Amino acid sequence: KIEFDGVDKYFGEAHVLKDVDLEIEDGEVVVVVGPSGSGKSTLLRCTNRLEEIQGGDIRIEGQSITNPTVDINFLRQRIGMVFQSFNLFPHKTALENVSIAPIDVKGLSRAEADERSQQLLTDVGLEDQADSYPNQLSGGQQQRVAIARALAMDPHVMLFDEVTSALDPELVGEVLGVMRELAEGGMTMMVVTHEMGFAREVGDRIVLMADGHVIETAPPEEFFENPRTDRAKQFLSMVL
Ligand code: ATP
Ligand code: MG
Repeated sequence: KIEFDGVDKYFGEAHVLKDVDLEIEDGEVVVVVGPSGSGKSTLLRCTNRLEEIQGGDIRIEGQSITNPTVDINFLRQRIGMVFQSFNLFPHKTALENVSIAPIDVKGLSRAEADERSQQLLTDVGLEDQADSYPNQLSGGQQQRVAIARALAMDPHVMLFDEVTSALDPELVGEVLGVMRELAEGGMTMMVVTHEMGFAREVGDRIVLMADGHVIETAPPEEFFENPRTDRAKQFLSMVL
């Protein structure tokens, strides 16, 4: 479970998250939508302390992430994050990319890590690509390696920030398919995406952000069919 409790974030004078309240239950998939600059990426980045918050609190599994005693490395292990750019290690194979953190951070033996990584690559449909280097893989394949790499740390929650935005259109579906399977497997997920089909079909709830505020939180059918706020109606008229 993730709890955002009155979260405020400033970049200098700019107030980019404004009193954000949000609870994400275990196994829930929350899709965050909203116009450019509304604070979606910042919200995800605050969740694993890539950015610090200036007010309120964020709790993961009941633990405040701002507590000075919190182990930030443990926190980041519990929160898997995948970005628009895949950032794989170019001189490591797909398998090595997935195995490296379990070996370096969790202290698994190479054999243990590789066995697990091979299974994760199979789960994301890349069982035949274990020995390929990133530049031998398509964007969609690289992004699926990046998802497997995040899963290798056994995260409690996965954060996805526009992971299909840099992909050619024909490669978007294979990545969304992996995310859908993960959701069906019960993973707790926060997903920032412009893919409204995915939001509607896979999301348990949609969160609309605008200008640093959470404007509306609703199940997809309600959000898409019956938005409550003018801001949501305006947003939907732009994207649908
Ligand atoms: P997009 O859809 O374009 O990705 P977003 O909703 O993810 O937008 P954020 O990237 O969270 O928006 O940005 C929210 C606001 O914070 C914007 O006004 C942005 O300019 C500002 N901002 C983001 N990162 C920084 C930073 N490192 N320093 C200063 N301002 C920042
Ligand atoms: Mg963003």
